[in-house]
Amino acid sequence: MDEHFAFLLPIIMAVFGGAFLFAWRWGARNALPWGAGYLCGGVAFCIPVIAPYFPSRFWALLADALFATSFYLYGQGILQHAGAKDMRLVRMAIWAVSVGLCAFAIFGSHSLRLELAASDLGCFLLIALPLGVMARRMRRKVDHALFAAVSLVALDTLSRGTTVMLTTPSDQRAAFLSTDYAFLMQVLASMLAPVMALTALAASVSRVVADYQRDAFTDPLTGLLNRRGFWDAVALRERRGKVPGCVVICDIDHFKRINDAHGHAVGDAVITAFAATIRADLPPGAIAARFGGEEFLIHLPRTRPDEAVGFAQAVRRSFAGADWDGTGISYPLTASFGLSEYLEDDSSLEVAIERADLAMYEAKLAGRDKVRIMKSNGTGDMVPEAPAPQLRLIAG
Ligand code: GH3
Ligand code: MG
Ligand code: MG
Repeated sequence: MDEHFAFLLPIIMAVFGGAFLFAWRWGARNALPWGAGYLCGGVAFCIPVIAPYFPSRFWALLADALFATSFYLYGQGILQHAGAKDMRLVRMAIWAVSVGLCAFAIFGSHSLRLELAASDLGCFLLIALPLGVMARRMRRKVDHALFAAVSLVALDTLSRGTTVMLTTPSDQRAAFLSTDYAFLMQVLASMLAPVMALTALAASVSRVVADYQRDAFTDPLTGLLNRRGFWDAVALRERRGKVPGCVVICDIDHFKRINDAHGHAVGDAVITAFAATIRADLPPGAIAARFGGEEFLIHLPRTRPDEAVGFAQAVRRSFAGADWDGTGISYPLTASFGLSEYLEDDSSLEVAIERADLAMYEAKLAGRDKVRIMKSNGTGDMVPEAPAPQLRLIAG
């Protein structure tokens, strides 16, 4: 690679810098430091190319400062991605020592080698420190990919900074672009800069996608899943086949009256409190969702009907015993519950949900504040559950 190719890196860096800023404008908050870092790096890579036309040592110091700043910003991107404290003081101190040493090398000792080593080792520390923090906080595949890509850049910077004596035969600045150091830097940076950018871009964007997905699947009022979230969770669970268990549908009794008498805000508070009651009794592995206004659906995997009845009764009792101080509601509120087992013969979970819905309406018809169970008789007909003592659990 000769000087003519030295223009490649600024272009690569600018393209990725622009891509990061574009992603940032679309809501990827972590993309901003990466974008700023790549643009800084792009300008820094321009300087050795234009410096011969404007000979001044200040250009060299400016390039060193821009490189240090770009690595400071990459470090910021890593820490932000890891959700860690930004360690600003320590990182700024590393930046200042590195740039200070570069200034001494340029204006004091007139040593190109010292300048390059100080710049590279400073850059190395500016990403190695955040990498160390990130190493303890990796959960997703994209975290590991980002860690690996930044580690490669760290390794590249460290090895370049420690082999300056070998790769830079002349200590004179004018010969810089013809050194092995400059050649290696340009070749490796041309490969590693896109690799790091693409993984950092993927990491930033995947975070946004995950946030949108969470919002799309969550009911904002209660924090439980919504209908879409419920079916997504069921599909995920059933990807290796049907998971037997029970479904429970519950609906707050006479809810319209609460809205009418106390207002919509109190109605919302009641819905939220009911969801919290469900969540408090929810066994591990259960999927709970708000299916409609004040109607909830719970899938209890690998749960026997008598256990599911026990769960529904616990929620029913807690809700009926709740204290509504501060809402203006001076009477106990109740809810009705319908249950059904998800059977081998059921073509899908919807069939079991339909039965649970019928059971819930039975509970309403029977006077509300009750738990009813409905089971299939094997031919697909819905029949009320036989009065087995542990299953025929009716409130009151
Ligand atoms: P039942 O005992 O038969 O269930 O009687 P109900 O009054 O509870 O009847 P229904 O289940 O049909 O009432 C649902 C009401 O819930 C109607 C709607 O105005 C209200 N609603 C739906 N979504 C919300 C919400 O997000 N907040 C509030 N406050 N009310 C809602
Ligand atoms: Mg209701
Ligand atoms: Mg309802």
